[in-house]
Amino acid sequence: MSSDSVRNIVVVGGGIIGCTTAYYLTRHPAFVPSQVSITLLEASTRGAAQGASGKAGGLVAKWAYPKELVNVSFNEHVKLANEHNGKDRWGWRYVSTGSWEGRGDPLPDDLDARPSNSLKREKSLEKTLGLPDGRKVGSNRKLTGLPDDLLWVKEHLTQSYSSMAPEGATAQVHPYLFTTSMLDLAKEKGAQFKSGTVTSIIQSGGKVTGVKYVEAGQSESQTLPATDVVVCGGAWSPALISRLPIQGMRAHSVVIRTEATAIIAPYVLFTEITGLGNGVVTPEIYARPDGTVYACGPGDYSPLPDNVDDVVVDPTACENLLKNVCAISDELRAGTTEVRQACYLPVSSIGGGPIIGEAEKIAKGLFVATGHTCWGISNAPGTAKAMAELVMEGHMKCADLKRLHPSKFI
Ligand SMILES: Cc1cc2nc3c(=O)[nH]c(=O)nc-3n(C[C@H](O)[C@H](O)[C@H](O)COP(=O)(O)OP(=O)(O)OC[C@H]3O[C@@H](n4cnc5c(N)ncnc54)[C@H](O)[C@@H]3O)c2cc1C
Repeated sequence: MSSDSVRNIVVVGGGIIGCTTAYYLTRHPAFVPSQVSITLLEASTRGAAQGASGKAGGLVAKWAYPKELVNVSFNEHVKLANEHNGKDRWGWRYVSTGSWEGRGDPLPDDLDARPSNSLKREKSLEKTLGLPDGRKVGSNRKLTGLPDDLLWVKEHLTQSYSSMAPEGATAQVHPYLFTTSMLDLAKEKGAQFKSGTVTSIIQSGGKVTGVKYVEAGQSESQTLPATDVVVCGGAWSPALISRLPIQGMRAHSVVIRTEATAIIAPYVLFTEITGLGNGVVTPEIYARPDGTVYACGPGDYSPLPDNVDDVVVDPTACENLLKNVCAISDELRAGTTEVRQACYLPVSSIGGGPIIGEAEKIAKGLFVATGHTCWGISNAPGTAKAMAELVMEGHMKCADLKRLHPSKFI
């Protein structure tokens, strides 16, 4: 950080919200590197995007919520992809999205499959809540079979398929690649990345003056002066601002590499699968342009660990998820599982959200951008653009986010 800097902006959290905020701060017209320093602090020792932002599905949808963020975010995703070759850099592409309902064909060793303990209190990720009523999964179904090019689910097991969005209304990114690209692009313009956990926000006279942090691998805390602090800590944000009504919901996911000969058309499927001996299961399945297919299961409320690096993966939850998705697809069954993982979505415990704005009742210069639930990938660019305007100019221009202001939540 330059000692001559007029402003020292500290972004806490190297997930998609923090990294994209750093990107938009460096692209703001008022950002002059000799006068403004931007430092992003991330608690993981493994770099950015180690939480939900690296382990999400990556759907970008016009039906996402809240609308005031979606309206900006979808267009910004398109612009970012055009400007930085998102197609090659982070797997940007338009994708078809549909709800698929049918039977599963159990694997031979699947007859005694039973849900793991962690799935007993399972919770939907609630992505379909933003759809207009008539298009919710389970309604308005055509029994006319699958689209011609959707060959990677078994036709004879399909009871119904219906499109969930018109062409051009859903797209996808690879969330880890998108998040780390945002950070790299921010660094190219002068933002700094530090590995360390922010332990407290320092304020004086009602104004933020710095943060205390512990560098990765050290035990002594250090102080970083700050004129502005943007808390983008995802599920861990209440560790810094205890009044934030945010809790973490854990969800498991897997990534399967399909065989080179498999034809995997670009679809995201919201499934309802029966016949596997454990009621209805509802995995989401995302074909990706790199020949892999990602799938995620429901959420549970297992306790949040202190650090993103210590998230516990329940192997049984991953195994059940694999069995469920392989039960409807020969292509997935023939593939190789590359990743079994878990992460925590930041969810508002009082409903609504995300929470975005200046928490001036706590301290001037303290900003919050968290609680994006199941839509943080989709809504990151709108959030970040609005935050950059607020921090650099004192007000948001691209969106009216009054409903999401911290004062409504804390
Ligand atoms: C299974 C699953 C599928 C999903 N699919 C989609 C999807 O298809 N589309 C979509 O739009 N959204 C999706 N989401 C939601 C999306 O992943 C989240 O909303 C988003 O990643 C949240 O980003 P974040 O940056 O707020 O949090 P995180 O990704 O959790 O990042 C927060 C970071 O802050 C760091 N941090 C926290 N506190 C501190 C501190 N004190 N000091 C330093 N660093 C700190 C953490 O270590 C972490 O790296 C999905 C989520 C899950 C779990």
